[in-house]
Amino acid sequence: MKTQKILNFDFVNATNQEFQTELIKLIDSKQNTFIVTANPEIVMYARSHPNFAELIRTASFITPDGIGIIYAGKKLNTPLQERITGFDTFLFLLKIAQEKKLKVLFYGAKPEVIAALKEKAAAEYPDIKVAGAFDGYLSDPAPVQQKIKENQPDLVFVALGAPKQEEFIKNNFHLTNAIWMGIGGSFDAFTG
Ligand code: UDP
Repeated sequence: MKTQKILNFDFVNATNQEFQTELIKLIDSKQNTFIVTANPEIVMYARSHPNFAELIRTASFITPDGIGIIYAGKKLNTPLQERITGFDTFLFLLKIAQEKKLKVLFYGAKPEVIAALKEKAAAEYPDIKVAGAFDGYLSDPAPVQQKIKENQPDLVFVALGAPKQEEFIKNNFHLTNAIWMGIGGSFDAFTG
């Protein structure tokens, strides 16, 4: 996948369609994949937190989620092809999960949002196998880790906000071969 360095991070420099085609290949070959969907806040946070910067550099992909990243690319004369948001990628992956009957684990957001998400997913994507659905306010993530180990999901969506979601992914990445993606407020947007 082509990338472009902006503010010292290698951003995916592709169309949504090219990126999605790549994701299908990775799903089909069961490659363990870590997607960071970066907005300017994440980049700014990383610039003042070297450990977090190092963590996101281990990601398989950093996508330009925020329009601010697109503007920065233009301004710095290192333009990107287009914005690739976590939310659009989330919707695309749900569609693929429905088609391919994948196992999906959802972790994050408030309990009522997770309840609404389960209901909406069952209604709109009935062939998705929900490998687990946990709200993001547990005092201990052990039950989530246990479910990931047991059910070996193909997709793991983590909506805890940055940097918590990326730290969770990094610490648990060895538990299953999946597409892991930190997606901020996407569960809220999906159910809202
Ligand atoms: N969230 C969570 N646990 C936490 C903090 C946040 O599950 O301890 C959820 C929150 O409910 C929301 C999502 O993380 O669904 C994104 O939060 P926020 O809007 O703060 O992050 P951003 O979208 O700006 O990255």
